[in-house]
Amino acid sequence: MIPYGRQSLDQADIDAVLQVLHSDWLTQGPTLERFEAAVAERCQAQHAVAVCNATAALHIACLAAGLGPGDRLWTSPNTFLASANCGRYCGAEVDFVDIDPHTWNLDAGRLAAKLEQAEATGTLPKVVVAVAFAGQSCDLHTIAKLGERYGFTLIEDAAHALGADYAGRPVGCGAHAAMTILSFHPVKIITTGEGGMVLTNRPELAEHLQRLRSHGMTRDPAQMDQPSHGPWYYQQVELGFNYRMTDIQAALGLSQLGKLDAFIARRRYLAERYGTLLADLPLTLPAAQPQAQSAWHLYVVRLKLERLNVSHREVFEALRGAGIGVNLHYIPVHLQPYYRDQGFAPGDFPEAEAYYAQAISLPMFPALSDEQQDQVIAQLRHLLA
Ligand SMILES: *Cc1c(COP(=O)(O)O)cnc(C)c1O
Repeated sequence: MIPYGRQSLDQADIDAVLQVLHSDWLTQGPTLERFEAAVAERCQAQHAVAVCNATAALHIACLAAGLGPGDRLWTSPNTFLASANCGRYCGAEVDFVDIDPHTWNLDAGRLAAKLEQAEATGTLPKVVVAVAFAGQSCDLHTIAKLGERYGFTLIEDAAHALGADYAGRPVGCGAHAAMTILSFHPVKIITTGEGGMVLTNRPELAEHLQRLRSHGMTRDPAQMDQPSHGPWYYQQVELGFNYRMTDIQAALGLSQLGKLDAFIARRRYLAERYGTLLADLPLTLPAAQPQAQSAWHLYVVRLKLERLNVSHREVFEALRGAGIGVNLHYIPVHLQPYYRDQGFAPGDFPEAEAYYAQAISLPMFPALSDEQQDQVIAQLRHLLA
């Protein structure tokens, strides 16, 4: 089976992990600091706070943005559950903004219209999570401007988008979003097994995020309400978590980061090749967001069902049957039973629902060979042409 995505590990990655296992520090030590500094430099961010996964990163980013009960978080329905759940962890209400029918990202025009209505009814969001779907940023320029006007904090969920660019700069540089979230899950752009990170240029947010990932504790006298009792002293100044990343994970991440440019180059090559070789089939191919250069975490196509006499499910099952591990990103989050219990229903976000009825994620990962990609294309051609 050719999977839709998978990690690329080599001996250097394994050696890097073994080296940490022979060292004095296994968790949140010097290798973690080096990994944070290296990601921050690559993404042109001032601060990087590594955590145990991107879901934890989204959670503490929302808390650092001040999200709490009575507040609202808005995101795209075409995302992984975590982009919405982070709002619920904070006790906030979650709502969605439908997607752009071409880029499949949160639609900035629909966001503007919904904000105007929300202002009239006093129901503006405190946080907007803009998901860089498939590795391509949203219209961040417009969304950031709306953030200034309506006073929400913009968090970019770039779990798919490490190594992507927007407006000529790396995703995570903080030119538009207050905080950017990365994931290092094995199917993402680089991996630490499990892992996540928050990037920001605001020192007060970085300090708060560091405290939240480790129990709300501080050893910094400036953050304490009384003088230190001695060298052992720390204070818990708020409720935090154990969301730490290990040095074992960070060593893997650091080694993987050295291959990021090669990974992205290969993903871009494969995306361009899909684009050329699938152009004549009854498919809608991914559309470029102006200003954005995708990291191509996913390569999604939509079936032009009106021109086919097979169903979406039949195409999906036939590809799986032929050893092509296609997947579907994403089931609209608002249709999940948990969110239906919050009042959402079919028809609420028609673009995301229409997309779901047609979308298929094709295999896309750096180790996918040209020959394997040819097999995927030949199977699609056989089914659709
Ligand atoms: C994978 C993913 C996450 C969660 O990442 P974890 O590291 O697995 O917690 C969040 N948002 C999006 C868009 C993702 O794809």
